[in-house]
Amino acid sequence: MIDSSLKDIAAALRAKTVSAVELATESLARIEAGNPRINAFVTVDRDGALAAARAADTRIAAGDAGPLTGIPLAHKDVFCTEGVLTTCGSKMLANFVSPYDAHVVSLLKNAGAVMVGKTNMDEFAMGSSNESSHFGPTRNPWNTTKVPGGSSGGSAAAVAARMVPIATGSDTGGSVRQPASLCGITGIKPTYGTVSRFGMIAYASSLDQGGAFARTAEDCAQLLSAMTGHDPRDSTSLERSYDHYGADLARPLAGLRIGLPKEFFAEGMSDDVRLAVEAALAEYRKLGATTVEVSLPNARLAIPAYYVIAPAEASSNLSRFDGVRYGHRAAEYTDLNDMYCKSRSQGFGAEVQRRILVGTYVLSHGYYDAYYIKAQKLRRLIAQDFAAALEQCDVIAGPTNPTVAYGIGEKSSDPVQMYLGDIYTVAVNLAGLPGLSHPAGFGKDGLPVGLQLIGNYFTEARLLNTAHQFQQATDWHSRAPVF
Ligand code: GLN
Repeated sequence: MIDSSLKDIAAALRAKTVSAVELATESLARIEAGNPRINAFVTVDRDGALAAARAADTRIAAGDAGPLTGIPLAHKDVFCTEGVLTTCGSKMLANFVSPYDAHVVSLLKNAGAVMVGKTNMDEFAMGSSNESSHFGPTRNPWNTTKVPGGSSGGSAAAVAARMVPIATGSDTGGSVRQPASLCGITGIKPTYGTVSRFGMIAYASSLDQGGAFARTAEDCAQLLSAMTGHDPRDSTSLERSYDHYGADLARPLAGLRIGLPKEFFAEGMSDDVRLAVEAALAEYRKLGATTVEVSLPNARLAIPAYYVIAPAEASSNLSRFDGVRYGHRAAEYTDLNDMYCKSRSQGFGAEVQRRILVGTYVLSHGYYDAYYIKAQKLRRLIAQDFAAALEQCDVIAGPTNPTVAYGIGEKSSDPVQMYLGDIYTVAVNLAGLPGLSHPAGFGKDGLPVGLQLIGNYFTEARLLNTAHQFQQATDWHSRAPVF
């Protein structure tokens, strides 16, 4: 049953042809069968899931159910969950049990969704392949020698492998869209400020945003609608009214203007990706959309700007993990400085240490103007490029990733190569815009390709509508991996 759409599952729950306990049991059985190969979950909360499912069944029986009541779901391990381990993929937090729920977690709990576990991720959400996790890499269900993408690779793999119908993620520079693309599912990162960051362990606060994974845009709309809303505990949470993101799904695409940034199509895309993206654009034209060329002249500067700003913010955010206030403490040390030093050296992996070093460097006296301020100026130029492009079109489309999923270990010794894989996603976070990735086809070796849609601020419903119409005409999103 968990292979069905959320709408069908909810209808079956209401009709009592399935119970929430049966759904949770099905999800837990699939995790048990598949997780040894995929490593999508760091923690499976069997008892908590069954208790939540029983509570959901009581609500359903009382006629008090919402669209997500009784639906199994997984949270990326970046979201704090009261009473359940929250590791953020790090040895630093390997034993951390949060005393409270993240805002997103409590919203979904209140909606009656049934959390089955916490998913694997790059350590502190730093990575594009899920290989930097302290708990070992997650494997791509389409080919277990390949990466699932990162940093929310566990959530994407869990949905792709049909272990859960929906999962949460976070996207600082592409971590929802990238793994969605490499795992052949749909993922959306909304406008910055839409999803509360309260209880979502901070990586780069001005870029971090929670997001949603599902197989289809329709299901993403349902999950994202339940995750949004103003939260006074996050000072960047926006006070505005939120319509249901599924409100616009049925709108035909006739007249939709799709902007194609010429810089995205100039070079850098592999043949697999180019062919699938071009075929998807042809499909969009068949659906009545028109395509126009637009330009994002500063897009090529997005990687250097992002890889200054994100580490700068990370170096500050991660200073709290010192073995005293939070996190792993070394067993043996000589004095206070030695304790800090050993605790952080032992608790953080290589990629996190690299980012803390870079971030500390670019913020230090004498380099701050040369790097950090310069990067902030580029950030503004990038946002202005998007604003100009979005005057000529309704949505921007292009690839999500330059290639299909690559081999585990293939790029992990070359950080710069890894960073370059983020070329199409990071600019969206620098501008704070919403972005979505949906399945667009497969490469010659049977690995999924994603198409990215980028919209203006608060146009999530339009992006989901666009992807939904595409999914009515194609079946890429319903293909399932055999692993
Ligand atoms: N790959 C990017 C990074 O490593 C983005 C990660 C993310 O969105 N959390 O910073």
